[in-house]
Amino acid sequence: MRPLYSLSLLETRNLLASGEVSPSRVVEACLERIARTEPSIGAILTLCAEEAGAAARRLEAAGPPDPERQPLWGVPLSVKDLLCTRGIRTTCASRFLENFVPPYDAFVVDRLKKAGAILLAKTNMDEFAMGSSTEFSAFQVTRNPWNTQRVPGGSSGGSAASVAAMQTYGSLGSDTGGSIRLPAGLCGVVGLKPTYGRVSRYGAVAYASSFDQIGPLARNVDDCALLFSVIAGYDPRDATSAQLPAPALERPEEGADLSGVVLGLPAEYWRGGLSAEVEQACCKAVGTAADLGAEIREISLPHLPYGLAAYYILASAEASSNLARFDGLRYGRRGGSPSDLKDTYTVSRTQGFGPEVKRRILLGAYTLSAGYYDAYYTKASQVRRLIRDDFSTALESCDALLAPACPVTAWEIGALLDDPLTTYKMDILTVCLNLAGLPGLSLPVGLGSESRLPVGLQIMGRAFDEPRVLRLGRILEAALPAIGSPADVNSKQRGSGSESELKRARAV
Ligand code: GLN
Repeated sequence: MRPLYSLSLLETRNLLASGEVSPSRVVEACLERIARTEPSIGAILTLCAEEAGAAARRLEAAGPPDPERQPLWGVPLSVKDLLCTRGIRTTCASRFLENFVPPYDAFVVDRLKKAGAILLAKTNMDEFAMGSSTEFSAFQVTRNPWNTQRVPGGSSGGSAASVAAMQTYGSLGSDTGGSIRLPAGLCGVVGLKPTYGRVSRYGAVAYASSFDQIGPLARNVDDCALLFSVIAGYDPRDATSAQLPAPALERPEEGADLSGVVLGLPAEYWRGGLSAEVEQACCKAVGTAADLGAEIREISLPHLPYGLAAYYILASAEASSNLARFDGLRYGRRGGSPSDLKDTYTVSRTQGFGPEVKRRILLGAYTLSAGYYDAYYTKASQVRRLIRDDFSTALESCDALLAPACPVTAWEIGALLDDPLTTYKMDILTVCLNLAGLPGLSLPVGLGSESRLPVGLQIMGRAFDEPRVLRLGRILEAALPAIGSPADVNSKQRGSGSESELKRARAV
Protein backbone atom coordinates (compact mmCIF):
# COMPACT_ATOMS: atom_id res chain seq x y z
CA MET A 1 0.00 0.00 0.00
CA ARG A 2 1.12 3.57 -0.70
CA PRO A 3 2.27 5.50 2.37
CA LEU A 4 -0.63 7.16 4.14
CA TYR A 5 0.67 10.70 3.61
CA SER A 6 0.74 10.22 -0.15
CA LEU A 7 -2.97 9.42 -0.52
CA SER A 8 -5.40 12.09 -1.64
CA LEU A 9 -7.75 13.79 0.80
CA LEU A 10 -10.71 11.79 -0.49
CA GLU A 11 -8.87 8.49 -0.33
CA THR A 12 -7.80 9.21 3.23
CA ARG A 13 -11.25 10.43 4.20
CA ASN A 14 -12.75 7.19 2.90
CA LEU A 15 -10.25 5.04 4.83
CA LEU A 16 -11.06 7.02 7.96
CA ALA A 17 -14.81 6.79 7.43
CA SER A 18 -14.69 3.03 6.96
CA GLY A 19 -12.59 2.62 10.10
CA GLU A 20 -9.57 1.19 8.26
CA VAL A 21 -7.32 3.82 9.79
CA SER A 22 -7.83 5.99 12.86
CA PRO A 23 -7.51 9.77 13.02
CA SER A 24 -4.56 9.36 15.43
CA ARG A 25 -2.71 7.21 12.92
CA VAL A 26 -3.29 9.70 10.10
CA VAL A 27 -2.12 12.57 12.30
CA GLU A 28 1.01 10.52 13.15
CA ALA A 29 1.68 9.88 9.46
CA CYS A 30 1.44 13.61 8.68
CA LEU A 31 3.67 14.52 11.62
CA GLU A 32 6.31 12.07 10.44
CA ARG A 33 6.12 13.50 6.95
CA ILE A 34 6.40 17.03 8.33
CA ALA A 35 9.43 16.06 10.42
CA ARG A 36 11.12 14.71 7.29
CA THR A 37 10.25 17.49 4.86
CA GLU A 38 9.91 20.65 6.92
CA PRO A 39 13.64 21.27 7.47
CA SER A 40 14.09 21.78 3.74
CA ILE A 41 10.68 23.44 2.99
CA GLY A 42 9.81 25.73 5.90
CA ALA A 43 6.09 25.87 5.11
CA ILE A 44 4.85 25.93 8.70
CA LEU A 45 4.86 28.76 11.21
CA THR A 46 3.02 26.96 14.01
CA LEU A 47 2.71 23.21 14.25
CA CYS A 48 -0.32 22.18 16.30
CA ALA A 49 0.88 18.64 17.10
CA GLU A 50 -0.57 18.41 20.60
CA GLU A 51 -3.88 20.01 19.71
CA ALA A 52 -4.16 17.76 16.65
CA GLY A 53 -3.45 14.64 18.71
CA ALA A 54 -6.10 15.68 21.23
CA ALA A 55 -8.60 16.43 18.46
CA ALA A 56 -7.97 12.99 16.95
CA ARG A 57 -8.60 11.30 20.27
CA ARG A 58 -11.78 13.32 20.79
CA LEU A 59 -13.09 12.23 17.39
CA GLU A 60 -12.26 8.60 18.16
CA ALA A 61 -14.00 8.79 21.54
CA ALA A 62 -17.11 10.35 19.99
CA GLY A 63 -17.53 7.30 17.80
CA PRO A 64 -17.97 6.74 14.08
CA PRO A 65 -18.45 9.79 11.84
CA ASP A 66 -21.71 11.10 10.52
CA PRO A 67 -20.86 11.10 6.79
CA GLU A 68 -23.37 13.84 5.99
CA ARG A 69 -22.27 16.31 8.63
CA GLN A 70 -18.59 15.30 8.90
CA PRO A 71 -17.22 14.82 5.39
CA LEU A 72 -13.69 15.65 6.64
CA TRP A 73 -13.77 13.40 9.72
CA GLY A 74 -10.20 12.85 10.94
CA VAL A 75 -8.46 14.59 8.02
CA PRO A 76 -5.46 16.76 9.03
CA LEU A 77 -5.35 20.13 7.26
CA SER A 78 -3.32 23.33 7.43
CA VAL A 79 -4.51 26.93 7.14
CA LYS A 80 -2.77 30.15 6.20
CA ASP A 81 -1.66 32.09 9.25
CA LEU A 82 -4.07 34.96 8.64
CA LEU A 83 -7.05 32.86 9.65
CA CYS A 84 -7.88 33.25 13.31
CA THR A 85 -7.65 30.03 15.29
CA ARG A 86 -8.91 29.88 18.85
CA GLY A 87 -6.06 29.36 21.31
CA ILE A 88 -3.44 29.08 18.54
CA ARG A 89 -1.33 32.07 17.60
CA THR A 90 -2.17 33.84 14.37
CA THR A 91 0.71 35.99 13.18
CA CYS A 92 0.03 36.99 9.54
CA ALA A 93 3.79 36.34 9.34
CA SER A 94 4.27 39.76 10.97
CA ARG A 95 6.27 40.85 14.01
CA PHE A 96 3.24 42.97 14.87
CA LEU A 97 1.13 39.91 15.62
CA GLU A 98 3.96 37.61 16.71
CA ASN A 99 2.22 36.78 19.98
CA PHE A 100 -1.43 37.24 19.02
CA VAL A 101 -3.60 34.34 20.19
CA PRO A 102 -7.17 34.84 18.96
CA PRO A 103 -10.05 33.99 21.29
CA TYR A 104 -12.19 32.74 18.39
CA ASP A 105 -12.07 30.73 15.16
CA ALA A 106 -12.53 32.25 11.72
CA PHE A 107 -15.77 31.16 10.06
CA VAL A 108 -13.91 28.84 7.69
CA VAL A 109 -11.88 27.25 10.49
CA ASP A 110 -15.07 26.65 12.43
CA ARG A 111 -16.62 25.06 9.35
CA LEU A 112 -13.60 22.75 8.89
CA LYS A 113 -13.71 21.68 12.52
CA LYS A 114 -17.46 21.05 12.44
CA ALA A 115 -16.89 18.90 9.34
CA GLY A 116 -14.50 16.77 11.43
CA ALA A 117 -11.18 18.10 10.08
CA ILE A 118 -8.14 18.33 12.33
CA LEU A 119 -6.10 21.53 12.32
CA LEU A 120 -2.47 20.46 12.11
CA ALA A 121 -0.54 23.57 11.08
CA LYS A 122 -0.62 27.31 10.43
CA THR A 123 1.27 28.05 7.25
CA ASN A 124 3.78 30.71 6.26
CA MET A 125 2.85 33.62 4.01
CA ASP A 126 3.99 37.04 2.88
CA GLU A 127 3.42 39.48 5.73
CA PHE A 128 -0.28 40.43 5.78
CA ALA A 129 -0.63 38.58 2.44
CA MET A 130 1.33 41.24 0.56
CA GLY A 131 3.66 39.59 -1.88
CA SER A 132 3.97 36.88 -4.50
CA SER A 133 6.82 34.73 -3.21
CA THR A 134 6.40 34.27 0.58
CA GLU A 135 9.83 35.89 0.95
CA PHE A 136 8.18 38.79 2.79
CA SER A 137 7.37 36.65 5.81
CA ALA A 138 8.96 38.23 8.89
CA PHE A 139 9.89 34.78 10.15
CA GLN A 140 11.19 32.39 7.51
CA VAL A 141 11.60 31.62 3.84
CA THR A 142 9.46 28.85 2.38
CA ARG A 143 11.01 26.77 -0.39
CA ASN A 144 9.35 25.20 -3.38
CA PRO A 145 9.20 21.40 -2.90
CA TRP A 146 9.97 20.91 -6.62
CA ASN A 147 13.25 22.77 -6.25
CA THR A 148 14.27 24.16 -2.90
CA GLN A 149 16.30 26.97 -4.50
CA ARG A 150 13.03 28.37 -5.86
CA VAL A 151 10.17 30.33 -4.33
CA PRO A 152 6.81 28.61 -3.78
CA GLY A 153 4.93 31.70 -4.99
CA GLY A 154 2.79 33.75 -2.65
CA SER A 155 1.31 35.00 -0.66
CA SER A 156 -0.18 31.61 0.36
CA GLY A 157 3.18 29.97 -0.35
CA GLY A 158 3.27 28.01 2.90
CA SER A 159 -0.12 26.45 2.13
CA ALA A 160 0.85 25.54 -1.44
CA ALA A 161 4.24 24.13 -0.40
CA SER A 162 2.77 22.13 2.47
CA VAL A 163 0.24 20.51 0.14
CA ALA A 164 2.86 19.88 -2.58
CA ALA A 165 5.25 18.34 -0.03
CA MET A 166 2.35 16.14 1.17
CA GLN A 167 2.54 17.41 4.72
CA THR A 168 -1.23 17.78 4.95
CA TYR A 169 -4.07 16.74 2.66
CA GLY A 170 -5.22 20.25 1.90
CA SER A 171 -5.01 23.82 3.08
CA LEU A 172 -6.87 27.12 3.08
CA GLY A 173 -5.29 30.25 1.66
CA SER A 174 -6.50 33.71 0.73
CA ASP A 175 -6.55 35.38 -2.67
CA THR A 176 -6.62 39.17 -2.92
CA GLY A 177 -4.80 39.44 -6.24
CA GLY A 178 -3.76 35.86 -6.95
CA SER A 179 -2.38 34.51 -3.68
CA ILE A 180 -4.08 31.14 -4.03
CA ARG A 181 -3.77 30.66 -7.79
CA LEU A 182 -0.18 31.81 -8.18
CA PRO A 183 1.44 29.60 -5.50
CA ALA A 184 -0.82 26.70 -6.51
CA GLY A 185 0.50 27.11 -10.06
CA LEU A 186 4.15 27.33 -9.02
CA CYS A 187 3.90 24.36 -6.64
CA GLY A 188 1.85 22.11 -8.92
CA VAL A 189 -1.27 21.87 -6.77
CA VAL A 190 -4.91 22.82 -7.37
CA GLY A 191 -6.15 26.13 -5.92
CA LEU A 192 -9.58 27.76 -6.06
CA LYS A 193 -10.33 31.44 -5.58
CA PRO A 194 -14.09 31.57 -5.01
CA THR A 195 -16.42 34.35 -6.12
CA TYR A 196 -16.24 37.40 -3.87
CA GLY A 197 -18.91 36.87 -1.23
CA ARG A 198 -19.08 33.09 -1.57
CA VAL A 199 -16.90 32.36 1.47
CA SER A 200 -17.12 34.36 4.68
CA ARG A 201 -14.15 36.55 5.58
CA TYR A 202 -15.11 36.58 9.26
CA GLY A 203 -11.94 35.96 11.26
CA ALA A 204 -9.59 36.45 8.31
CA VAL A 205 -7.18 39.33 8.94
CA ALA A 206 -7.97 41.87 6.22
CA TYR A 207 -5.56 43.02 3.55
CA ALA A 208 -7.86 44.63 0.94
CA SER A 209 -11.43 43.96 1.98
CA SER A 210 -13.13 44.42 -1.39
CA PHE A 211 -10.81 41.81 -2.93
CA ASP A 212 -9.98 39.22 -0.22
CA GLN A 213 -11.45 35.74 -0.61
CA ILE A 214 -10.61 32.55 1.28
CA GLY A 215 -10.25 29.36 -0.74
CA PRO A 216 -8.83 25.83 -0.76
CA LEU A 217 -5.57 24.37 -2.06
CA ALA A 218 -5.39 20.62 -2.55
CA ARG A 219 -3.70 17.82 -4.47
CA ASN A 220 -6.49 17.40 -7.02
CA VAL A 221 -9.75 18.97 -8.14
CA ASP A 222 -12.01 16.56 -6.23
CA ASP A 223 -10.22 17.32 -2.97
CA CYS A 224 -10.41 21.02 -3.71
CA ALA A 225 -14.14 20.78 -4.45
CA LEU A 226 -14.77 18.95 -1.19
CA LEU A 227 -12.96 21.62 0.84
CA PHE A 228 -14.80 24.35 -1.04
CA SER A 229 -18.19 22.75 -0.34
CA VAL A 230 -17.39 22.77 3.38
CA ILE A 231 -16.36 26.44 3.61
CA ALA A 232 -18.85 28.02 1.16
CA GLY A 233 -22.07 29.55 2.39
CA TYR A 234 -23.81 32.49 3.98
CA ASP A 235 -22.51 34.05 7.18
CA PRO A 236 -24.36 37.02 8.71
CA ARG A 237 -21.13 38.15 10.41
CA ASP A 238 -19.60 39.12 7.05
CA ALA A 239 -21.60 41.98 5.54
CA THR A 240 -20.44 41.00 2.04
CA SER A 241 -21.38 37.33 2.40
CA ALA A 242 -23.77 36.29 -0.38
CA GLN A 243 -27.16 35.03 0.71
CA LEU A 244 -27.15 32.07 -1.61
CA PRO A 245 -27.71 28.39 -0.92
CA ALA A 246 -24.57 26.24 -0.76
CA PRO A 247 -23.57 25.26 -4.29
CA ALA A 248 -24.39 21.73 -5.45
CA LEU A 249 -21.19 20.11 -6.68
CA GLU A 250 -21.50 17.03 -8.81
CA ARG A 251 -18.59 14.93 -9.87
CA PRO A 252 -18.53 14.65 -13.68
CA GLU A 253 -19.71 11.28 -14.89
CA GLU A 254 -17.04 8.79 -16.03
CA GLY A 255 -15.75 9.67 -19.52
CA ALA A 256 -17.41 13.11 -19.57
CA ASP A 257 -16.03 15.41 -22.26
CA LEU A 258 -16.25 19.10 -23.06
CA SER A 259 -18.57 19.04 -26.04
CA GLY A 260 -20.87 22.04 -26.08
CA VAL A 261 -18.51 24.01 -23.83
CA VAL A 262 -17.18 27.35 -25.10
CA LEU A 263 -13.80 28.37 -23.68
CA GLY A 264 -12.50 31.87 -24.28
CA LEU A 265 -8.83 32.76 -24.62
CA PRO A 266 -8.46 36.46 -23.75
CA ALA A 267 -5.86 37.70 -26.23
CA GLU A 268 -4.45 40.18 -23.70
CA TYR A 269 -3.46 37.31 -21.40
CA TRP A 270 -1.75 35.27 -24.09
CA ARG A 271 -0.09 38.02 -26.07
CA GLY A 272 3.61 38.37 -25.19
CA GLY A 273 5.21 38.31 -21.79
CA LEU A 274 4.82 34.58 -21.17
CA SER A 275 7.92 32.44 -20.93
CA ALA A 276 8.19 29.97 -23.79
CA GLU A 277 7.73 26.95 -21.54
CA VAL A 278 4.67 28.36 -19.79
CA GLU A 279 3.07 29.24 -23.11
CA GLN A 280 3.89 25.79 -24.48
CA ALA A 281 2.45 23.86 -21.50
CA CYS A 282 -0.71 25.99 -21.39
CA CYS A 283 -1.26 25.80 -25.16
CA LYS A 284 -0.97 22.04 -24.92
CA ALA A 285 -3.69 22.00 -22.25
CA VAL A 286 -5.91 24.20 -24.44
CA GLY A 287 -5.32 21.66 -27.23
CA THR A 288 -6.46 18.89 -24.90
CA ALA A 289 -9.61 20.87 -24.11
CA ALA A 290 -10.26 21.19 -27.85
CA ASP A 291 -9.67 17.44 -28.30
CA LEU A 292 -12.29 16.87 -25.62
CA GLY A 293 -14.80 18.75 -27.77
CA ALA A 294 -14.61 22.28 -26.35
CA GLU A 295 -14.99 25.17 -28.74
CA ILE A 296 -11.99 27.47 -28.26
CA ARG A 297 -12.72 31.09 -29.01
CA GLU A 298 -10.22 33.92 -29.02
CA ILE A 299 -11.75 36.91 -27.27
CA SER A 300 -10.64 40.29 -25.99
CA LEU A 301 -10.82 41.92 -22.57
CA PRO A 302 -9.75 45.36 -23.79
CA HIS A 303 -9.14 47.00 -20.41
CA LEU A 304 -6.99 44.21 -19.02
CA PRO A 305 -3.71 46.04 -19.65
CA TYR A 306 -4.75 48.61 -17.00
CA GLY A 307 -5.61 45.95 -14.43
CA LEU A 308 -2.28 45.64 -12.67
CA ALA A 309 -1.96 49.38 -12.05
CA ALA A 310 -5.58 49.64 -10.90
CA TYR A 311 -5.16 46.67 -8.57
CA TYR A 312 -2.02 47.98 -6.90
CA ILE A 313 -3.61 51.41 -6.36
CA LEU A 314 -6.87 50.06 -4.93
CA ALA A 315 -5.40 47.19 -2.89
CA SER A 316 -2.75 49.47 -1.36
CA ALA A 317 -5.38 52.10 -0.57
CA GLU A 318 -7.52 49.54 1.25
CA ALA A 319 -4.45 48.10 2.98
CA SER A 320 -3.36 51.49 4.29
CA SER A 321 -6.80 51.93 5.81
CA ASN A 322 -7.12 48.35 7.17
CA LEU A 323 -3.67 48.40 8.72
CA ALA A 324 -4.29 51.69 10.52
CA ARG A 325 -5.67 49.63 13.39
CA PHE A 326 -2.20 48.32 14.18
CA ASP A 327 -1.15 51.20 16.39
CA GLY A 328 0.61 49.51 19.30
CA LEU A 329 -2.29 50.41 21.61
CA ARG A 330 -5.33 48.42 20.65
CA TYR A 331 -3.75 45.85 18.38
CA GLY A 332 -0.45 44.08 18.23
CA ARG A 333 2.83 44.60 19.97
CA ARG A 334 3.95 47.95 21.32
CA GLY A 335 7.36 49.16 20.15
CA GLY A 336 10.09 49.70 22.78
CA SER A 337 10.03 52.77 25.14
CA PRO A 338 8.06 55.42 23.24
CA SER A 339 8.06 58.94 24.69
CA ASP A 340 4.46 59.96 23.96
CA LEU A 341 1.36 58.86 22.08
CA LYS A 342 2.56 59.82 18.63
CA ASP A 343 5.87 58.19 19.29
CA THR A 344 4.03 55.02 20.32
CA TYR A 345 2.47 54.83 16.88
CA THR A 346 5.72 55.62 15.12
CA VAL A 347 7.92 53.23 17.05
CA SER A 348 5.37 50.39 17.02
CA ARG A 349 4.69 50.65 13.30
CA THR A 350 8.35 51.15 12.39
CA GLN A 351 9.37 48.07 14.32
CA GLY A 352 6.27 45.95 13.68
CA PHE A 353 5.91 46.15 9.90
CA GLY A 354 8.32 44.80 7.30
CA PRO A 355 9.46 46.59 4.12
CA GLU A 356 6.73 45.44 1.73
CA VAL A 357 3.91 46.32 4.13
CA LYS A 358 5.41 49.76 4.67
CA ARG A 359 5.65 50.23 0.90
CA ARG A 360 1.94 49.43 0.53
CA ILE A 361 0.90 51.72 3.40
CA LEU A 362 2.87 54.61 1.91
CA LEU A 363 1.51 53.97 -1.56
CA GLY A 364 -2.06 53.70 -0.25
CA ALA A 365 -1.83 56.80 1.93
CA TYR A 366 -0.45 58.72 -1.04
CA THR A 367 -3.17 57.73 -3.50
CA LEU A 368 -5.88 58.50 -0.93
CA SER A 369 -4.52 61.90 0.01
CA ALA A 370 -6.26 65.15 -0.90
CA GLY A 371 -5.23 66.27 -4.34
CA TYR A 372 -4.33 62.78 -5.54
CA TYR A 373 -7.50 60.88 -4.68
CA ASP A 374 -9.30 61.65 -7.93
CA ALA A 375 -6.27 61.10 -10.12
CA TYR A 376 -5.49 57.69 -8.62
CA TYR A 377 -8.17 56.13 -6.44
CA THR A 378 -11.20 57.34 -8.39
CA LYS A 379 -9.59 56.59 -11.74
CA ALA A 380 -8.57 53.09 -10.63
CA SER A 381 -12.13 52.45 -9.39
CA GLN A 382 -13.42 53.41 -12.83
CA VAL A 383 -10.95 51.04 -14.47
CA ARG A 384 -12.14 48.33 -12.11
CA ARG A 385 -15.70 48.78 -13.37
CA LEU A 386 -14.55 48.61 -17.01
CA ILE A 387 -12.65 45.39 -16.34
CA ARG A 388 -15.64 43.89 -14.58
CA ASP A 389 -17.79 44.80 -17.59
CA ASP A 390 -15.21 43.24 -19.95
CA PHE A 391 -15.43 39.95 -18.05
CA SER A 392 -19.26 40.05 -17.96
CA THR A 393 -19.44 40.57 -21.70
CA ALA A 394 -16.93 37.80 -22.43
CA LEU A 395 -18.65 35.38 -20.09
CA GLU A 396 -22.00 35.92 -21.79
CA SER A 397 -20.72 34.02 -24.80
CA CYS A 398 -18.14 31.79 -23.09
CA ASP A 399 -18.65 29.24 -20.31
CA ALA A 400 -15.21 30.01 -18.91
CA LEU A 401 -11.96 31.76 -19.81
CA LEU A 402 -8.48 30.25 -19.82
CA ALA A 403 -5.10 31.85 -19.09
CA PRO A 404 -1.83 30.81 -17.46
CA ALA A 405 -1.61 31.43 -13.71
CA CYS A 406 1.85 33.05 -13.83
CA PRO A 407 4.02 34.26 -16.74
CA VAL A 408 7.00 32.14 -15.60
CA THR A 409 7.72 29.05 -13.50
CA ALA A 410 9.08 29.42 -9.96
CA TRP A 411 12.00 31.85 -9.80
CA GLU A 412 15.16 31.71 -7.69
CA ILE A 413 14.80 32.70 -4.06
CA GLY A 414 16.13 36.25 -3.69
CA ALA A 415 16.17 36.99 -7.44
CA LEU A 416 13.44 39.64 -7.29
CA LEU A 417 13.76 40.87 -3.72
CA ASP A 418 15.17 44.23 -4.76
CA ASP A 419 12.84 44.54 -7.73
CA PRO A 420 9.29 45.12 -6.47
CA LEU A 421 7.97 46.15 -9.87
CA THR A 422 8.90 42.86 -11.54
CA THR A 423 7.44 41.02 -8.56
CA TYR A 424 4.18 42.93 -9.03
CA LYS A 425 4.23 41.92 -12.70
CA MET A 426 4.07 38.27 -11.66
CA ASP A 427 0.45 39.02 -10.70
CA ILE A 428 -0.46 40.35 -14.12
CA LEU A 429 -2.48 37.23 -14.98
CA THR A 430 -4.34 36.93 -11.69
CA VAL A 431 -5.32 40.37 -10.34
CA CYS A 432 -8.02 41.21 -12.90
CA LEU A 433 -10.20 38.35 -11.71
CA ASN A 434 -10.14 39.89 -8.22
CA LEU A 435 -11.02 43.30 -9.65
CA ALA A 436 -14.06 41.59 -11.18
CA GLY A 437 -14.78 39.44 -8.09
CA LEU A 438 -15.08 36.24 -10.14
CA PRO A 439 -14.04 32.64 -9.36
CA GLY A 440 -10.89 31.02 -10.76
CA LEU A 441 -9.23 27.64 -10.48
CA SER A 442 -5.51 27.08 -10.93
CA LEU A 443 -4.85 23.63 -12.37
CA PRO A 444 -1.40 22.07 -12.85
CA VAL A 445 -1.13 21.27 -16.55
CA GLY A 446 2.47 20.17 -16.97
CA LEU A 447 6.11 20.80 -16.21
CA GLY A 448 8.10 23.48 -18.00
CA SER A 449 10.25 21.93 -20.73
CA GLU A 450 13.29 23.89 -19.58
CA SER A 451 12.92 24.22 -15.81
CA ARG A 452 10.98 20.98 -15.14
CA LEU A 453 8.88 23.02 -12.73
CA PRO A 454 5.06 23.07 -12.56
CA VAL A 455 2.92 25.28 -14.80
CA GLY A 456 -0.63 26.23 -13.78
CA LEU A 457 -3.59 27.10 -15.99
CA GLN A 458 -6.44 29.28 -14.70
CA ILE A 459 -10.05 28.46 -15.45
CA MET A 460 -12.07 31.61 -14.81
CA GLY A 461 -15.83 31.54 -14.56
CA ARG A 462 -19.03 33.51 -14.04
CA ALA A 463 -19.97 34.83 -10.62
CA PHE A 464 -21.02 32.00 -8.28
CA ASP A 465 -20.41 29.46 -11.01
CA GLU A 466 -17.79 27.47 -9.07
CA PRO A 467 -19.59 24.19 -9.86
CA ARG A 468 -18.92 24.67 -13.58
CA VAL A 469 -15.35 25.86 -13.03
CA LEU A 470 -14.62 22.80 -10.89
CA ARG A 471 -16.34 20.48 -13.35
CA LEU A 472 -14.25 21.82 -16.25
CA GLY A 473 -11.14 21.50 -14.12
CA ARG A 474 -11.97 17.93 -13.20
CA ILE A 475 -12.55 16.88 -16.82
CA LEU A 476 -9.36 18.54 -18.00
CA GLU A 477 -7.37 17.10 -15.11
CA ALA A 478 -8.52 13.58 -15.98
CA ALA A 479 -7.45 14.02 -19.61
CA LEU A 480 -4.02 15.55 -18.95
CA PRO A 481 -0.99 13.46 -17.99
CA ALA A 482 -0.39 13.80 -14.23
CA ILE A 483 2.61 15.96 -13.36
CA GLY A 484 3.51 13.57 -10.54
CA SER A 485 4.79 14.85 -7.24
CA PRO A 486 8.07 16.50 -6.33
CA ALA A 487 10.90 14.03 -5.88
CA ASP A 488 11.65 13.46 -2.26
CA VAL A 489 12.39 16.96 -1.08
CA ASN A 490 15.69 15.95 0.46
CA SER A 491 17.05 14.36 -2.67
CA LYS A 492 18.82 16.05 -5.56
CA GLN A 493 17.14 19.09 -7.02
CA ARG A 494 16.16 19.59 -10.62
CA GLY A 495 16.03 22.62 -12.84
CA SER A 496 18.57 24.92 -14.34
CA GLY A 497 18.64 28.69 -13.89
CA SER A 498 15.82 30.49 -15.65
CA GLU A 499 17.54 33.87 -15.91
CA SER A 500 16.24 34.20 -19.44
CA GLU A 501 12.67 33.82 -18.16
CA LEU A 502 13.16 36.54 -15.59
CA LYS A 503 14.63 38.86 -18.18
CA ARG A 504 11.53 38.30 -20.24
CA ALA A 505 9.29 38.98 -17.25
CA ARG A 506 11.11 42.22 -16.53
CA ALA A 507 10.47 43.32 -20.08
CA VAL A 508 6.68 42.74 -19.91
N1 GLN B 1 0.73 39.53 -4.94
C1 GLN B 1 -0.45 40.33 -4.75
C2 GLN B 1 -0.17 41.43 -3.76
O1 GLN B 1 0.88 41.43 -3.19
C3 GLN B 1 -1.61 39.48 -4.32
C4 GLN B 1 -1.56 39.11 -2.90
C5 GLN B 1 -2.76 38.35 -2.45
O2 GLN B 1 -3.54 37.84 -3.26
N2 GLN B 1 -2.93 38.30 -1.14
O3 GLN B 1 -0.99 42.27 -3.54
